[in-house]
Amino acid sequence: MSSSSSSSPCKVAVLGAAGGIGQPLSLLLKLCPLVDELACFDIVGTPGVAADLGHIPTKAVVTGMLKDGLKDALTGASLVVIPAGVPRKPGMTRDDLFNINAGIVKGLIEGCAEHCPDAVIAIISNPVNSTVPIAAETLKAKGAYRPQKLCGVTTLDVLRANTFCAQHMKRSTDAIHVPVVGGHAGTTILPLFSNVEDFLATDEELQALTHRTQFGGDEVVQAKAGAGSATLSMAYAGYIFAEQVLRGLKGSSNSDIIQCAYVESS
Ligand code: NAD
Repeated sequence: MSSSSSSSPCKVAVLGAAGGIGQPLSLLLKLCPLVDELACFDIVGTPGVAADLGHIPTKAVVTGMLKDGLKDALTGASLVVIPAGVPRKPGMTRDDLFNINAGIVKGLIEGCAEHCPDAVIAIISNPVNSTVPIAAETLKAKGAYRPQKLCGVTTLDVLRANTFCAQHMKRSTDAIHVPVVGGHAGTTILPLFSNVEDFLATDEELQALTHRTQFGGDEVVQAKAGAGSATLSMAYAGYIFAEQVLRGLKGSSNSDIIQCAYVESS
């Protein structure tokens, strides 16, 4: 990932900023000292979100844009985070969201290709395993595909793996870093618990930890009983990923920035 000058202002755009993930994610980004401008875009509600966040005394200037404002939201952005789309209800898989969310993501990515072709794009909208390839093809068609700048956000899988592993090992979560590779749906999520120092588990315990990480999203969907999927933990995960990308773009020594994500790979 090429770094921008540390002195150039840093603009982040959140697309889907009025949603269950978008609002707390925007709040966390408003608190982030690396962000100079925060553009909140959605088809509803963003003037209110921006007015609300704008009263928090941190340096990020917040703007709220509706449908016609996509160009303004994206122009000058170095990072675009996309939680736009519908969430799951009980009994749904992430694939069931495909028909609606694929179209939403495609439209927003066309905007990125046109208005901020050099931005890092972080896609949260599910099914990530499909929305990222759709975004890649959309960018290719526009001549704006940079594989190293298109990421599916799988950070929540990492956070879940870390939490469940720390509980299993009776350790502080600070000391646990489980890499998670693969995709972001069920058995495509592959937590590598064996990479954690001193990790010990029976086959049964390992299977249970792996299964809980792979299907942790279902726990939240069921507990919310029709009111959607993970929003607060996902907002935190999206923030962690965004903050690390911004640190990279600002030219931090890359050795201390390691994030798992769903990216093109041979
Ligand atoms: P939500 O319904 O609360 O919010 C979605 C927002 O997107 C709404 O405010 C809606 O108005 C907006 N939106 C719809 N079409 C849009 C468009 N064309 N342009 C801009 N905004 C648009 O849903 P949520 O709970 O915030 O979830 C959002 C997405 O994130 C879902 O697809 C969900 O499955 C996904 N998700 C991903 C992860 C992950 O780990 N990657 C985790 C949880 C949820």
